[in-house]
Amino acid sequence: MSKVIALAPFPAPGSSPLRASALDAFVRAAAATPRAPGPVADMRGRPLHDLRISVTDRCNFRCVYCMPKDVFGRDYPFLAHADLLSFEEIARLARIFVDQGVSKIRLTGGEPLLRKNLERLVEMLARMGQLDLTLTTNGALLAKKAQSLRDAGLTRVTVSLDSLDDVTFRAMNDVDFPVARVLEGIDAAAAAGLAPIKVNMVVKRGLNEASIVPMARHFRATGHIVRFIEYMDVGATNGWRMADVVPAAEIVRTIDAAIPLIAADPNYSGEVAERWRYRDGAGEIGVIASVTQAFCRDCTRARLSTEGKLYTCLFATSGYDLRALVRGGSTDVELGNAIAAIWRQRTDRYSEVRTSNTARLQKVEMSYIGG
Ligand code: SAM
Repeated sequence: MSKVIALAPFPAPGSSPLRASALDAFVRAAAATPRAPGPVADMRGRPLHDLRISVTDRCNFRCVYCMPKDVFGRDYPFLAHADLLSFEEIARLARIFVDQGVSKIRLTGGEPLLRKNLERLVEMLARMGQLDLTLTTNGALLAKKAQSLRDAGLTRVTVSLDSLDDVTFRAMNDVDFPVARVLEGIDAAAAAGLAPIKVNMVVKRGLNEASIVPMARHFRATGHIVRFIEYMDVGATNGWRMADVVPAAEIVRTIDAAIPLIAADPNYSGEVAERWRYRDGAGEIGVIASVTQAFCRDCTRARLSTEGKLYTCLFATSGYDLRALVRGGSTDVELGNAIAAIWRQRTDRYSEVRTSNTARLQKVEMSYIGG
């Protein structure tokens, strides 16, 4: 694997040079302008396929690399309930996104299972049919909720788990949460049929590298797919440094030395994870190399924040306020016009131009925009 970390002038294209008021004006004008017919593609020819919806900016974990306690403490100004999109508002927007070509929706956060009665939203989205409807969770509440989520129409689930070593895991989630309860959640999800289950492990140098091989061994031959994720410079609070990234190539070498691997073809063009199979046929792993091998070229993901802002990049510094349109009485057609226009002028390719300077941009937090 080659290491691709391009140099670029500051600021990065992932951020919009327009100020929030200009963005609002753009959204209003776009809503009122009839859209050109046909599928929506951005300035780099990328279609709009995936929508990630953050249903809460709150989390019951304080993962040190995501929501460090000293920033996200008791006084942190989380969104007020009235600011969150309601389930009805989310479902309406989701339907309009589907009209623009979205075929996969992932619910995320924050911790999505903290949002009360989430099953009701899942049911509303599932009723739209033909959707790959998934959810990313830290697993803390999954044992309790797996069956009701499945019954509501959830297709699959991704569980974040950074180590099987209890001491390491408790230190990383920073709320002393035990590994065993997350494993119970994974078992419950499997029993409920939320398969194939993906297990996401973020690898941070000096923190959990020793957990890479045990994680691979534990989930080998279970049908669950572990995906090892490079530590990213999302948000502005995690103090990211390139030196903390364990490159995906190193992760693959480490696992291969213990359990031999062979490269596998992508399931579909633009798949985020690079796939590797165990040579003995006992399953597969994935590596997500968003730092060392940027995959912006194939990025088809839009993100809807908890309060209804549309972001066209995980590393963006500002979003487009769709809630203002929704609550201002815009019609479905006007909302569709706005979404299409926002996507059509998208140029983001942050990971291709990341530098130590861009890492310091005031990017939105992952807990707010959704992972
Ligand atoms: N609370 C849910 C969970 O834990 O899966 C959903 C939200 S969380 C922000 C989504 C994913 O983002 C998790 O797998 C988390 O580990 C990952 N994540 C958070 N910060 C990250 C970072 N700096 N680099 C890479 N992945 C990160």
